[in-house]
Order: sequence, then structure tokens, then C-alpha cells
Amino acid sequence: MSLFGRKATPLGAAPIADRELLLADLDGVVYRGLGAIPGAVAELNRAAESVRLGYITNNASRTDRDVAAHLSELGLRAAADDVVTSPQAAVTLLRETVAPGARVLVIGGEGLTDELTKAGYAVTRSAEDDPAAVVQGFAPEVGWVHLAEAAFALAEQPGQPPLPWIATNTDWTIPVARGLAPGNGTLVSAVHTAVQRLPVFAGKPETPIFEAAFERFGTRNALMIGDRLDTDMKGARAAGIPSLHVLTGVDRPKQLVAASKDMHPDYIVASLAELHEPYPETVQRKDGSMQVGTARVGMDGHIVRIDAEGDSPINLLRAGCAAIWGSGLAIYGLKVPERLYEDHWN
Ligand SMILES: [Mg+2]
Repeated sequence: MSLFGRKATPLGAAPIADRELLLADLDGVVYRGLGAIPGAVAELNRAAESVRLGYITNNASRTDRDVAAHLSELGLRAAADDVVTSPQAAVTLLRETVAPGARVLVIGGEGLTDELTKAGYAVTRSAEDDPAAVVQGFAPEVGWVHLAEAAFALAEQPGQPPLPWIATNTDWTIPVARGLAPGNGTLVSAVHTAVQRLPVFAGKPETPIFEAAFERFGTRNALMIGDRLDTDMKGARAAGIPSLHVLTGVDRPKQLVAASKDMHPDYIVASLAELHEPYPETVQRKDGSMQVGTARVGMDGHIVRIDAEGDSPINLLRAGCAAIWGSGLAIYGLKVPERLYEDHWN
């Protein structure tokens, strides 16, 4: 019995329970900058003892082998086969419209050329080689010269169908050692402005990268683990699998309470240790308030009300998200107490 007058909500199954596959994002989940996130490697190795563990990354600049080597250096047991990259998903998409053997204009780095070559495509860097498609992904060396080649290749030709254009991902930014830099979405946007059309996207939050993972690992009984709402959580929802948001990366409590319906995670955790721990159930009380553990949050019209701070800040955040998300009201019109989205985990 709680000192605060109300019993805690029951504990449900651990997020990892009964899953066949965990799909982990990399940056903000496994590592941040150069170093591993404290505890992440140990928890993922522990998880891998009972469930298949795959890694899923939008970063197109590295090959699956490079990524696996990096993960191994950090202490994870990872092989190239465990890594699903956006270039792999881009190649799957490409195969639907352009047969292997064709010449493809590549805007990007080794991560892309490696996958295209493995799949039997010829790679060119020039629009003058009459490519059958354009595939674009991030690499630090991509510059105006390359974007211009894409624009020349994609220019509308009278009487001809538009050339297939596939981009690995839409991420506007890419985190690097010195801060946030323009990502592939920003570079694609430059070409888009020049040619007045959009590519098809392969990476998160689009589903091709998830489909590539389901096919590789032979199951759809998967849990997505990520740190970004607009790629990891949104992508998992679109792919029809549950998702777990870990507060070790980009999106913080403030973004969580404000998240739109298409990117709500099923679990919110402070660290990957909680993968293995029973997860408290969310219970709606008779007065409409939402309770998680002993934390309780209700709504008075557009005012968010903390009824009980409860046993832990994470349960307060979970209850707050449940109340706000359950209200169906847009965050912009709500009055939210700051205590609710205070960041205890940064
Ligand atoms: Mg990430």
C-alpha cells in the first residue's frame, strides 16, 4: 500500500518478453559521438542471449562491415549480417524498377557503392553516362559538383518517363563530433529545389528498411529501439511493430509529450537496463486521469494537471504522455506544467 493513498499500477511484461527480434538504432542508442553509451553494450549483449539482435541505421556513409567492426570494437558481438543499412534498403527498392547490370548514378560514398556493386549494378559518377537511375545517400565528401550531376541526370526529358531517383533517408541533420551538420535530407532538398520533384526514400521512417530487416531475420515479431521520434518511432509505427524510446539520445521528455500520434512509442525508458524489467501498466482512472506506478496526470480541458508526482520521474513522464496523447489535443493549445517534462536523464 502506498503512503500516498493509492496503490501502484500493476507491472506488465518486460519490453523484451516474447520478442523474436530486437532492432536497435545506433547513434543515441549504442553510442554517442565516439564512445559507447554507459551500460548499452552490456545490456544489448545480455539481450542477445535470448533474442535475435539486429542493428538498423540510416547512415549511408559506412558499409555494413564498417558498422559491424565499430560495434565489435565497442564490445558487441556483431557481424556484417547483423547490420541493416539504408543503402541495402535503397538497393531493394531499386531492384523493383531497374534490373541489375544497369548503370546507376551514385551521389554518396562507399556505403552505397558497396551495396550497388554487390547487387550487380554498375556505378557511375557522371550524368553523361546515361544512367538508368540516381541513388543518393550521405557521405561527408558530397558537394555541389555531385549534386549538380544528380540534377542534370534527373532533368525532365520530353517524351521520356522520369528517371528513378532513390534517396537513402530524409534526416535533415547528422550528428558529428563538432555538432549537428546538414544531413542527407538537406542535400536531397538542394537537388529537389533544382529539379522540382522528390525521390523515393528507403530509410527510417519509411518502411523499406524495416521490410529488409524482417526479411533478413525471418520474423516480424520485432521491437524497435531508438532515440528519435521522427525516424525510429514513426518508422516502427508505419512498419506495424512496437517501439521503445530510450532517453540516451536526441529526443527528450519535451519532444515526447509533444509527439504526434504517428510517432508515439509503446515504451519509454531511461536506459536499456529496463529492456529486461517488468514495465508498469498505464491505467485510466474513473476521473479520466492516467496512472503509471503511483504517478497520476489528468486533464482539465486544455490544462494538464499533475495529481500525484508518484514514485519516479520516469513514471510521471509516462503518465503525462498517456494523459496528453489520450486527450487527442494538439500540444500547442495545452498548458503543461514544466515538472512533467523536466529532463532528469541528460
Ligand atoms: Mg539515433
